[in-house]
Amino acid sequence: MFEKHCQTCGIEVDKKTAPKRFGRYFCSEDHSQQYLKKKEEYEKRMEEEERKHPRRRGGCC
Ligand SMILES: [Zn+2]
Repeated sequence: MFEKHCQTCGIEVDKKTAPKRFGRYFCSEDHSQQYLKKKEEYEKRMEEEERKHPRRRGGCC
């Protein structure tokens, strides 16, 4: 899908001038950094969750 909106604040961006990061457009460098930070936090949280509650692989026994 082709997003033309800033992934942080949702404002419409001009794809000719908007900074593109990670295949997404942002209204400013600042918001691309914010998005990256949020993404990293989310991934860290998911990792922690998995450590706390390890998914069982391959069923029982
Ligand atoms: Zn923005």
